[in-house]
Amino acid sequence: MSIPPARDISTVLARLEDLRAADLPTDSGRVMAYVYASGVEGLDDVAAAAARAVQDLNGLDPTTFPSAAALEREVVTWVGGLLGGGEEVVGTATSGGTESIILAVKAARDAWTSAHPEDPRRPVVLAARTAHPAVAKAAHLLHVDLHRSEVDADTVAWSAAGAAAGLDAAGDRVCLVVASAPGYAHGVVDDVTGISAAAADRGVRCHVDACIGGLVLPYLRQAGAPVPAFDLSVPGVTSLSVDLHKYGYAPKGASLLLHRDADLRTPQYWAWTDWPGYPVVNSAVTSSKPLGPLAAAWAVLQVLGHDGFTRLTATLIEATAAIRDGVAAIPGLRVLGDPVGPLLAFGSDAAAPTPIAPFLLADALATRGWIAQAQPANGPLPRSLHLTVMPAAGRHVPELIAAVVEAAHEVAGQPPPTPDPQLIAAAAMIDVATLDGPTARQLLALAGLGDPAGTGQSSLPAAMAPANALLEALPPALAERLLTEFWGQLFGPGGP
Ligand SMILES: *Cc1c(COP(=O)(O)O)cnc(C)c1O
Repeated sequence: MSIPPARDISTVLARLEDLRAADLPTDSGRVMAYVYASGVEGLDDVAAAAARAVQDLNGLDPTTFPSAAALEREVVTWVGGLLGGGEEVVGTATSGGTESIILAVKAARDAWTSAHPEDPRRPVVLAARTAHPAVAKAAHLLHVDLHRSEVDADTVAWSAAGAAAGLDAAGDRVCLVVASAPGYAHGVVDDVTGISAAAADRGVRCHVDACIGGLVLPYLRQAGAPVPAFDLSVPGVTSLSVDLHKYGYAPKGASLLLHRDADLRTPQYWAWTDWPGYPVVNSAVTSSKPLGPLAAAWAVLQVLGHDGFTRLTATLIEATAAIRDGVAAIPGLRVLGDPVGPLLAFGSDAAAPTPIAPFLLADALATRGWIAQAQPANGPLPRSLHLTVMPAAGRHVPELIAAVVEAAHEVAGQPPPTPDPQLIAAAAMIDVATLDGPTARQLLALAGLGDPAGTGQSSLPAAMAPANALLEALPPALAERLLTEFWGQLFGPGGP
C-alpha cells in the first residue's frame, strides 16, 4: 500500500462523509465533553472563512508574515485584559491547553535552573490531585518531578494550607505551583488567592490552569455568580492558560499562555543559531505553526463580542442550574463539591436507600443518546459522572433531565460492577516493565476491550461500566499500559 492513485475530489469527500457517519454529533449539546457547541448560527462559517484566509501562512516566522504576530497580539490583549492582566501582560498562542501548560512548566523549570546553576536536583512542579493530566505530562516530558497535594474530599478544592504544606515539604526545589480554575473533572475552582500567596511568599511562580474556565468565569461573575478571584488580578499569579477552543467556541488547535510580564516569559522561548541554517526562535513547542485555528479564534471572539459571550454565558447559567437542580433532586445522586459552572460531577449518594452507580448511569444515558464521562474513584474522591454543559445543550435541558431521571430509575439500587478479585490479584503480580504486546492484548480482551485475534474489530463494548471498574481497580501503571495497547490497536493496520 502506498499513496493511492489520483482520485476525484467528490470521491474523496464522499468517503470523508462516510467516515464521519460513525462520529457522534458535535453540534447538538448531547455530547457533554470534548466539544463546545455554541449553538450560534453561522459561527462555524466565520471560523472556516478566517482559517481559510491564512491557510498558506507559516506562524514560524512573524518577520515574514507580520499578520501572525498581529493576530496573536490582539487576542492576547483582549483575553489578557479580560483576565486581569495589566499593561505588561504578554502571551503566546499555542495548539491547545496541553501545549500552554508544557510551556508554563518549561518557563518555570528553566528559570529555576538558571537560579540554581550548580544544583544537581530536579525541580518540582506542585499541583493538586485534581490538576489536569497535562501538568503530569509536562513534568514527564520536561524531566521535572511532580508532587501532588490532596484536595478536601467534601469541597474537592485545593486549599492554601495544602499548597503551603506541599511547598514546605519540597523545600527550594519547587519551580512552579499549578492551581485550577476550575479543575476539569469536578468544575471546582481552587483557592487561587491563598495558593498563589503561599507560592509568592517563597519566591515560587504560580500558574493558573484556566484552560476551560478562562472564557466563562469572567462572564459568570459579571452575571452575579460567586466566582472567587482566579486570574492575573491576583498578585501571586505569574501565568495563566486559557483555551480558545473550549468556551472561546473556536475550532480545535487554539489556546493561549499568558504571563504577567515579558521577563517571566523569556525562559519559555527557545532559540538556536548553532547550525548552518536560518536562526531559530520558537515561542511554542511547534516550529512551523498553523495560523488557521488562531485566526478562527480571533474572528469568533470578535463576531461574538462581549455581548455574545454574555448571552452564551446566560444560557450556560440557566442550563447548568436546571441540570444541577434536576439531577440533585434524584434520590441516590449528589453533586460533588460546589461547582460554579458550567462543569459539574455527580457521585453516588451512599446515604440514599437506592444509591445510583455512576458507571451504570453513564451507560444508561449513552443508550439514550447522551454522552457523559464516567470518572473513576481516585484518592478520597468517589466515582462520578462528569457533565460539561454547552450553550447548545440549553435547548434540550428538560429532555436531558428526563433522560437522567429515566436512566437513574433503570439502574437505581443495582450494585456497581466489581471486577473479578482473582483477576485483580493476578494483575497485581504483573511486571509492567516486561509486559509484552501479545500478553497485553490478551489482558485487554479479558477487560472486554481490544482485539486479541487481530480481526480488525477492536472497539468499545456497549456497556463500559465493567471495563471502567476494572481500569479503576488495576494498578495505574498496568491500566496505563493496557490503554496504550488499546490505543495502538485503534491506529494500527488492523484498526476498525
Ligand atoms: C482541556 C483542559 C486542559 C488540556 O487542554 P487540551 O486543549 O485538551 O490540551 C488542561 N486543563 C484543563 C482544566 C482543561 O479543561
